[in-house]
Order: sequence, then structure tokens, then C-alpha cells
Amino acid sequence: MSTEVKTTTCYMCACRCGIRVHLDVKDGRSSVRYIEGNPGHPLNKGVICAKGASGIMKQVSPARLTRPLRRKAGAARGAGEFEPISWEEAFAMLEQRLGAIRATDPKKFALFTGRDQMQALTGLFARQFGTPNYAAHGGFCSVNMAAGMIYTVGGSFWEFGGPDLERAKLFVMLGTAEDHHSNPLKIAISKFKRDGGRFVSINPVRTGYSAIADEWVPIRPGTDGALLLALNHEIIAQGLYDREFVARCTNGGQLVVVDPSSPRHGLLATDEDADPVNPLYPQNQLWWDRHTSRAVLSHTPDADPKLFGDFTLPDGTRVRPAFQLLAERVGACTPEWAAPITGIPAATIRRLAHEMGITARDEKIELPIAWTDCWGNEHQTVTGNPVAFHAMRGLAAHSNGFHTVRSLAILMSLLGTIDRPGGFRHKAPFPRAIPPSAKTPTGPEGVQPNTPLAGLALGWPGSPEDLFVDADGAPVRIDKGFSWEYPLSVHGLMHNVITNAWRGDPYPLDTLMIFMANMAWNSTMNTDEVRRMLNDKGTDGGYKIPFLVVCDAFRSEMVAFADLVLPDTTYLERHDVMSILDRPISEFDGPMDSVRVPVLPPKGECKPFQEVLIELASRLKLPAFVDAHGARKYRDYPDFIVRHETEPGSGIGFLAGWRGADGSKALLGEPNPDQWRKYAENNCVFKVELDPSYRYMRNWNRGYMEWAQRVRLRRHGDPILVHLYSEVLQRFRLAAQGKWPGRRPPAALAKRVETHFDPLPFYSAPLEAQATDLEKYPLAAITQRPMAMYHSWDSQNAWLRQIHAHNYLFVNPRTAAASGIGDGAWMWVESQWGRVRCMGRYSEAVEPGTVWTWNAIGKSPGAWALAPEANEFTKGFILNHLISDRLPGDTSNSDPVTGQAGWYDVRVRISPA
Ligand code: SF4
Repeated sequence: MSTEVKTTTCYMCACRCGIRVHLDVKDGRSSVRYIEGNPGHPLNKGVICAKGASGIMKQVSPARLTRPLRRKAGAARGAGEFEPISWEEAFAMLEQRLGAIRATDPKKFALFTGRDQMQALTGLFARQFGTPNYAAHGGFCSVNMAAGMIYTVGGSFWEFGGPDLERAKLFVMLGTAEDHHSNPLKIAISKFKRDGGRFVSINPVRTGYSAIADEWVPIRPGTDGALLLALNHEIIAQGLYDREFVARCTNGGQLVVVDPSSPRHGLLATDEDADPVNPLYPQNQLWWDRHTSRAVLSHTPDADPKLFGDFTLPDGTRVRPAFQLLAERVGACTPEWAAPITGIPAATIRRLAHEMGITARDEKIELPIAWTDCWGNEHQTVTGNPVAFHAMRGLAAHSNGFHTVRSLAILMSLLGTIDRPGGFRHKAPFPRAIPPSAKTPTGPEGVQPNTPLAGLALGWPGSPEDLFVDADGAPVRIDKGFSWEYPLSVHGLMHNVITNAWRGDPYPLDTLMIFMANMAWNSTMNTDEVRRMLNDKGTDGGYKIPFLVVCDAFRSEMVAFADLVLPDTTYLERHDVMSILDRPISEFDGPMDSVRVPVLPPKGECKPFQEVLIELASRLKLPAFVDAHGARKYRDYPDFIVRHETEPGSGIGFLAGWRGADGSKALLGEPNPDQWRKYAENNCVFKVELDPSYRYMRNWNRGYMEWAQRVRLRRHGDPILVHLYSEVLQRFRLAAQGKWPGRRPPAALAKRVETHFDPLPFYSAPLEAQATDLEKYPLAAITQRPMAMYHSWDSQNAWLRQIHAHNYLFVNPRTAAASGIGDGAWMWVESQWGRVRCMGRYSEAVEPGTVWTWNAIGKSPGAWALAPEANEFTKGFILNHLISDRLPGDTSNSDPVTGQAGWYDVRVRISPA
């Protein structure tokens, strides 16, 4: 027996650490001996977590799917009765069925994927097929975090940007327990603390990162928006905002038309005679110059905008600086106002605001890096204000989360911390324009038989004209994304798909293909009802969702409902790319992408889902996958990755490294057949080091903008001003008020759009809390992902099951005792939608009005190849049974701006069992 070491990229969670896989090789067969972190990988620098080291058990799990399966004739969905078929039979079945759909009505095919890392490919497949019905899991995960931040600062957390803990002095984390950016963030926090930084965690529960925070500030779930508005109030009231940053780098100094009788009410005033520079992102807004006391073009040399005041333009139009409107908005949001909402004492809110403000003001960082801003001003140094934030799903997964996240982005901006040392920093390809220029089609004519979709399936609306609706304003997508119900649903609404398809609202589907998403269990609200819908038949005796294809590596709960099961490989058995076109692993100092390479052969007949898509795309003759004669273009997925270009001759492909015929080019260059080998020889990662003068202030950095355009990371070089005031939202509000010259919402939705498309952030209780008898259901219930398991992925992992095979409901002892529940006793937890029996556990690390548990630990009997007496069945539970995707009045339990699923809004009561 010999041993061998191969490097690849972990996929036991979404963090993408580099790993070294030690293999035993005997008689030509390899097996994993152990997995360690790769010290040569820039992301994790050799660090590995419990999950990463346990990848070995994934290979030997009895829950692996190893052959394509077809539901047995006559067997009910959910019974899990299958017969094996060959891949050729499976492909022939899909080719015939999908070919017929594509030739008639492509939207009858929907492709939805879970926590995959190949959205550039799945998105391309869907677009080429011609269906608008494509999305990944973002809509039910953290779309508010992406949209709220990107529509405000042009970037967001995790893959898009993050806290610069190398230089920060104060670190404030909100709504994060265990993070996607797992090992890198742990490494950074560890160093930050050793260097003497102060770490404050604001979270209803003190677990994970919060457990090592210097201060834990417990908050009631869904009320972070009120806290953030109060912090903004204090920062403005105490004069602790970075005036220079607000004036130059945000739209705070730009003038807003204040005349309710004007069709331009609430829009930014412009000089129509001035050159807008780029009509898509015009630059002819106005400032009120405090030197000359008159309106001038924004960023006129030597001018300085008034941030407060009420002015009249020469044509009589009344205007106010956007910052004045923000100050007015947060004027009443005092700490005393926020205290009873959040449960945080007013004095604590005031103290935190003061600490943020004086740390930002008094501990400035200055780096000797010369740079030039977009207006041509030379700067000899880069300066920063060392207050860094990080936030995730705890803020996002509420129906009021969009405005909460915008409030956070505004706080970060008032403190002057956007893309500056010690604050928040972007990761390539961010920053993006606000909003990014990618768009969906704008009407049903964008969906045509045998034709690629006339736009992207997911985009970034900038006005009502960008919505994907028909002439009556009705949705085109099955999930109703980009409709008036959820205009900025930039990640789609996976949680709507099954309910809408079952109802035939807005239309029935024919085939629903699900990849890596456990939608019959933990990846759905209203679990029992969804399982019923999947199995429900119409009057014609056929299933209401006629054909279900599930591709997964393991026998999850969802697999049992499939008509056709496609066995995926594990991450150790396939090629993968973490592409700049998708969600790369870039760090602050430059673009970075990475790959996985197979270190083991596929088990049984497993086939990577990427290969399935390449095969299907070739058989269906989707234009990007065949040549001019309709012949197959790519041998397989690795061949596709090397040779595919976004447009013929564009020089842009899925991988940025070692491009060009000789591999000497980065980001742009001709295809290089040797690309995979180069990645394999270089720890599976490629990095571009940005010139130091391009690493900060990228929203307004001329050098960076020019470079980014040269390498086609950006289409436009315009400065990206922070949108303290969102003109995008105001356009939708004007439409709802009947004042927009273009599209208007259906009457039934006008009030909802008018309310939620407020150009300034506001706080309202989550929709579910508003629709619940809070006397009857007084407690908030939330879940967290444990450090040792990633969703349901590890339910079959023998090592990780030793850490979590069942879960408790964690309850503050005072709360539990008041309900007569003992520590460790069986209890009921009940919402207005259902109840579950579980075991309670006392915990001081949760605020008294909240109960919580780990997600995805409890399992449905029969799934995951677990023994009938497994703890996951007998002791574990999932909270999803208590959460509904619909609210009273039959509205969706989603944020009315983005469609984000309101996972953390459910209210419960508890009692002994
Ligand atoms: S943090 Fe995630 S990617 Fe990194 S080693 Fe752990 S499981 Fe793997």
C-alpha cells in the first residue's frame, strides 16, 4: 500500500477552504486516510474545522445514492420506492420531456438549486433553455443581506466584502452565529482579539462567535432595524458622522425634490443641461454649495454641499439635501423609542453609538498610499475609521429585513467605513453599480419556444420598467419574482415554488428539477403541507406537479418524492469552479478564484450535476453548448470550463487564472487547455494582487475603476455613491402613487408597494408578528446552524452525528420555569401554524423572550439511511413545522421588497408535554 496527498477545496460547508487529502492507494484503488487544512491556501492557511476533517465519513456514508433511480410504477411519491435505471435511460427521458417543453412553453420547466456553488453554470443552462424559472437558495437564505447592502453601498458581506479586522479597533457583529466565511473569520477574530480589539455581538443568543465577544447585547429577533435607526439617530444627533465622507462619497449632499404635487417628488434634482456622463447612472445631480449659496452640479471642484437645509432652485422647485431627509427620518428614532422594541436599554444604545462614533473619529488610520478619486483629486494617503461590522442571516431573514440591512449600511456609511482600512472592504468583483446592470426580460415576450431567455433569469431592477411582468402587472416567473409583490427579489423565491406550482398560480409547471435542496424537509416552510402538495393529484389523476427530478448525493427527505433521481458525486469526486462569474473566493486585496479537482473516482454510477447539465444542454442543442451545425461543442465539464467564453472571443471564461495560449494571462485571455493542471499545481487557487492604490475607496477610485474596466470586471467607470437616500425605491413608490410615467402596480398591491418602497429606511414589526396574537404566542423562535453541521448535509456523517444527533429547544430558565418546564424535560412548542414535541434545555445564553434550536438536526423517519431508532427521529425535531410560507390574508411570509423568507418571524408558546 502506498500513500498519496492531493490538494482540492473543501465543500463540507460553503466557506471553501483549501484541503490536503491523504489517500491510501492499494491495488490501484484509493481511499481517504485523513483530510487536513492546506497551509498553502490563502483562505484558511491550514486551518480546518470539525466538518472539514470529517469529509472522510461522507465517502463511506450508507446514505449515498449510487445509481439513477425511477419511481416504481404505482408507488406513491414520498414512499421512496424506486427501480434503478441506466444513465442513458435517464438522459433519454429528460431529453424527450424537456425537449417537448422547450419547443412549446419553456417556462413549464423550472430549475431550483440549493447551496450549490455553480450558479454561473446552472444560470446559463436555464437561460439557454429559455425558462425564467431558475434560482438558487438565496431568496430563502439571506437575500436581504445582499440586496439591502448592494442597493446602498454596492457590495455586501461574505463573498462580496467583509470587516477589515486586521486594522479595526471596534468590531460589531449582528445576527451571526456561525458564518459562511467560517475559518477565515475565526482566524481574523482570533488575531483581532489578541491585538486588543473590542468585539461586541448583538444577537438574541450568545453562541458561536458571540460566546467570545467582549460584550453580548441581547436583542429581540426582528427588531434590529429599530436598534440601527436609533444608532443612526445618535450618530447624527451627536455630530459623530464623518462629514467629509458623507459629503463626497454618499448622495447625502444631493438635493431631493420636495414637492408632493410634482411628478418628480422624492427624486434627485438634476441639471438637465449638464452632461449626465452615463445615462444609465447619470451624474448631473445637484448640491447646494455652502460657499456660494447656490445650486451647483454634484462634485463641482471647490464646492462643498450643505447637508442640512431647505432650498429653492431658480425654477422655484423646493429641494432638501438627502442627508437632511435622513436626519428628519431618524429624528424620532431615539434610544428611548428603540428600547421597548428591542429590549436593549436606552443607555446601552446611547453608549454603543458613542463608542462607535468616537472610535471612528478619534482613532483614524492613515496609510501612505497615494490614489486618485473619480473626480480627479489626488490623495497622498488612504485614511480609515476603524469600526468594522459583520452581519448575516439574523438581520436578513425577516420580512422587515431589507430596511434593517439598509439601516446598517447607512450606519456604516455615516461612520465613514465603506471600503476603507479598519472598516468594511469590498471583494472583487464588487463594488457593483447601484443597482448592478444585469437585468431580466421585462415581459412574457422574453420567453419564447426553442429560444434562450431574452435576459437573465435574475437581475437588479432599477425602476418599474425593469420588472418581469405582463401588461396587467402579473408575474411571469413561477415564484412571482420581480413582480409587484416582490419587486427586488434579486435571488428569486425558492420558498414559493412548490406552493405556486401546486396551486397553478400563476400557472402550472410540467417539470421541476431540484438540485441539492431538501425541499421536503428542512429547506421549506410548512413542511407537512409541502410534502402533501408534492404528493397531491388533480382531478385527472395526475400529480399537480407532474414531474419531479431530484439530483443529490444522499438520500435526503426530498429524494423520496422524486420521479427521477440523479445521483450526484461528493465534492471529492468532481471538478468544480468557484468562478469570478459567480461567487469567487476573492479577498480584500484582489480577485481570487479556485477549483476542486477529483481526488477519488465517483462512487458507483454517480455523476457530477455539472456533467448532467452539459450532457442535457448538448442533447437539447442549447445554442451555447453546440456549434453552428448543432453538434456537441464540449466533451465534458472540464472541457467546457476551459473553452467556454461568455461571448465568442471575449477572453472571459469561468476561470480567471492562467489564461492565454501559454497561460501567462490573468482574468482576460484566450482559453488555455492546460488551465486545470495549473490550478492543481497551485493549491487549486488563483489570485490577482491589486496594485496597492486600487485596494481602497474602490467606489470612487479612478485607478481601480479604469483597471476594472480593462479586465472587464466592471462595465462602467462611474463613481458609485452610497445611496443614503434610495432613488430606486422612490421610483417604485411614485408608481404606487400613480405619479410615475411608466408602469404602475395593480390596485391591490399599490398600498403595499407605497409603504415598503420608502427611499429612507424605517422600522415596522415583521409581517408575521403583526398577524399574530402576541398575548397567545409571546415568544420569538429562531434557529441557528451549528458549527459542526452544515444544514442537513451531514446527517449521514458518522463522526459529526456524534456531536449533533438530536437537538433541544433552548429556553431562558426564567421563561421555562414560568411555564412549568424542567431542564431536559419534554415540552411542546407551538405556533399558530402547528406544534412540535421536543426536549427543552435551560440556557442563560438566550434573552428571555426568545427560544431557539439548531436547524436541520431532526429527520423524517426513513431518510438518510438512518436506523429506525436513530436519535434524529426519536429525539430530534425541526422548527419548520411551525413556520408557514403563507400568512393570514394569504400573503406570502416574505419581505415585500425582496421576497426574503421570514424564517425568524414566527411567534410561539411553550408548555410541558
Ligand atoms: S470551514 Fe467549511 S470549507 Fe472550511 S474546513 Fe470547515 S467545512 Fe470545510
